[in-house]
Amino acid sequence: MDYNKILEEIYKEILPFSEKGHQADYIPALAKVNPDQFGMCLKTVAGEEYSHLQADTRFSIQSITKVFALAMCLSLKGEELWKRVGKEPSGTAFNSLVQLEVEKGIPRNPFINAGAIVLSDILISSLEDPEGDFLRFIRELCDDESVDFNMEVAMSERECGYLNAAIANLLKYHGTIENDIERVLMFYFKMCSVEMSCRELARAFTAFTNCKPFDFAGFKLSQSRIKRMNAVMQTCGFYDEAGEFSYLVGLPGKSGVGGGIVAIYPMRYAVAVWSPRLNSKGNSVMGMKALELLTTATQESIF
Ligand code: GLU
Repeated sequence: MDYNKILEEIYKEILPFSEKGHQADYIPALAKVNPDQFGMCLKTVAGEEYSHLQADTRFSIQSITKVFALAMCLSLKGEELWKRVGKEPSGTAFNSLVQLEVEKGIPRNPFINAGAIVLSDILISSLEDPEGDFLRFIRELCDDESVDFNMEVAMSERECGYLNAAIANLLKYHGTIENDIERVLMFYFKMCSVEMSCRELARAFTAFTNCKPFDFAGFKLSQSRIKRMNAVMQTCGFYDEAGEFSYLVGLPGKSGVGGGIVAIYPMRYAVAVWSPRLNSKGNSVMGMKALELLTTATQESIF
């Protein structure tokens, strides 16, 4: 398969969408990002990498970080984890309070904010150095020691993170989180603030293609667990647009409001795409389109 050519052609086809959508600006530090950027990188399990344009520019991975947090929590807690957080699609916005209230403080899934705030609480309770372990884990996954939190973005989100603070308070009220709310939120915002490039994300996510044993910085997952993580990405990875992403692209994956999307073709490759302009559901407009064209051109999807 000539992925280089396919990536080039995809870019030409999505150019008419380059001014559609708006970058996230509810986190003031993200509003400063130039919205007119695009990068893509596909990495196969055999180690080949194919990239296009700004594949090496780092950006705020935001919710994509929730996949890393879930992997760590599953490694630490196993199936017990699902007592604290569900694994059903939410069908509501990623930061919705309503469902959490109705369902008495048990988040629908680990990829909505409430779910990831619970994951943050679990990591704080289970690890002596949660920040250090998190960084060690993601650095080993993407094989780059310089990947880090962006504290300007984390603090910027903290300063106006009223909705996430409300979610954390509701979780605390229902006894779903154990630690101090401020500590949990700050750890959550730090995880979201991590900056990675498409190449680094593609490298990190090849670990979730399930083609070899998963063991990074001491966090181990069986093939069966990786299969289940992919299932959660497929059903819950795209806010309340998971059905649309499944329909258009047909791969498990995860998006973030920084404009990044990562998708996995199990046993074959991971692909990351980034473009900051988002649609009304919070997914990158050009990113969704690029992945739709990729699986259409290659006929490679799980369906
Ligand atoms: N840090 C962001 C928030 O909590 C993550 C949102 C996202 O990427 O979906 O609002």
